[in-house]
Amino acid sequence: MTQHSHTHDHDLAHHHDIHAELPSDPALRVKALESLLTEKGLVDPAAIDAWIEIYESKIGPRNGAKVVAKAWVDPAYKQRLLSDGSKAIGELDFLGRQGQHIVAVENTPEVHNLVVCTLCSCYPLSVLGLPPAWYKSAPYRSRAVIDPRGVLKEFGLELPEHVKIRVWDSTAEVRYLVLPERPAGTERMNEEQLAALVTRDSMIGVGKVSAK
Ligand code: FE
Repeated sequence: MTQHSHTHDHDLAHHHDIHAELPSDPALRVKALESLLTEKGLVDPAAIDAWIEIYESKIGPRNGAKVVAKAWVDPAYKQRLLSDGSKAIGELDFLGRQGQHIVAVENTPEVHNLVVCTLCSCYPLSVLGLPPAWYKSAPYRSRAVIDPRGVLKEFGLELPEHVKIRVWDSTAEVRYLVLPERPAGTERMNEEQLAALVTRDSMIGVGKVSAK
């Protein structure tokens, strides 16, 4: 009886310790969980990395791509998106549970928008999925503000000198989604075909959408 009671107490304490050690940041919790599963031989870390990469670049940003494509084909929706991003994104059921405000910023031939979180890695998860590693990196976070034109050049995007670059610093409360320009030569495409063209990078502002 005493022995049983001791074991029980020990288990409780052990569970408590594991919980206390898990970081509060969801990304770190996932990392901790991954280490645990890898250690137990339950998962292959390379497979997880491949899956995360697909999620960051392909699956995660699909909701955002649908928002962009709808704004391209539906001028009334575009107006709603630009005046109240969260509400317009909510129309498509992509708001998620985070509850932060999403502001959509429009690229034009004169203005290019670039999104960063200088403080940490705030990102519109419900429309873009997980942030890529470079978005969370210190060099991107500092240089996007100091030298946005140089940063864009490194992403292969060289903007004409007359194009103004606006840098938007995300916070826990307000996150930004870039509405990229619809590329020329897509006049005959439907919403679904257009959505397939929209890349994650174009919605962060480090790329443009091309017709193919
Ligand atoms: Fe942040």
